[in-house]
Amino acid sequence: MSRYDDDKNRVLTCAQWLSDNGYFGCRLSSGGNVSLKIKDTDLIAITPTNKTYHDMTLADICVVDKNLKQVEGRLPPSIEIGMHTAVYENRPEIKGVIHTHQVFASIFSVINQPVPSLFDEVTLALGEIADIIPYALSGTRELAQNVSSKLGNQCHSYILQNHGALILGSDLEIALKNTELLEKSAKVYHYALTTGKHITFTPQSSIDHFKHLRMSS
Ligand SMILES: [Zn+2]
Repeated sequence: MSRYDDDKNRVLTCAQWLSDNGYFGCRLSSGGNVSLKIKDTDLIAITPTNKTYHDMTLADICVVDKNLKQVEGRLPPSIEIGMHTAVYENRPEIKGVIHTHQVFASIFSVINQPVPSLFDEVTLALGEIADIIPYALSGTRELAQNVSSKLGNQCHSYILQNHGALILGSDLEIALKNTELLEKSAKVYHYALTTGKHITFTPQSSIDHFKHLRMSS
């Protein structure tokens, strides 16, 4: 038993849902990672490296402090922990971070094109754009720095060039919902582009309206 078991269980439940629903790109791999900021502490709970989600248990979820010192967990934390801590340092309102290899967002990661605002409910939740974070090798300080450089737009989802997606939320369960919304948006945009027809976007007045709502909530 650990006093962080509730937090660790939320991370495990979220990661296994994402894996079961194909958001890590391959159900048999250990790709992708999930974390949350533990309330009233400088600690984060995060999935471990190199462990398939199907076999993951509560004891595998890591607890790490802001200096990346591991407090709990029998495996090392995800190699992408630097990407997660970059978000928590730059965006104090964010308490949950999800990194996926979800298929439709990944299409935009390889054509290196952002996913724009298409629907009211997505714009309210995610912001006006899922912008591109430039490529750097997985798990590197350079990738974490590239993430940091894009967080100033206050949006809640990003496309990692030639890699996948990064999704944020004011708690982990909201980040999970945002992950689904990003995939819906990327899927619709992909299919809309394949029609070759003119695509309409959310009007700027609506984007501004939802931005105001999001920032004041
Ligand atoms: Zn990845």
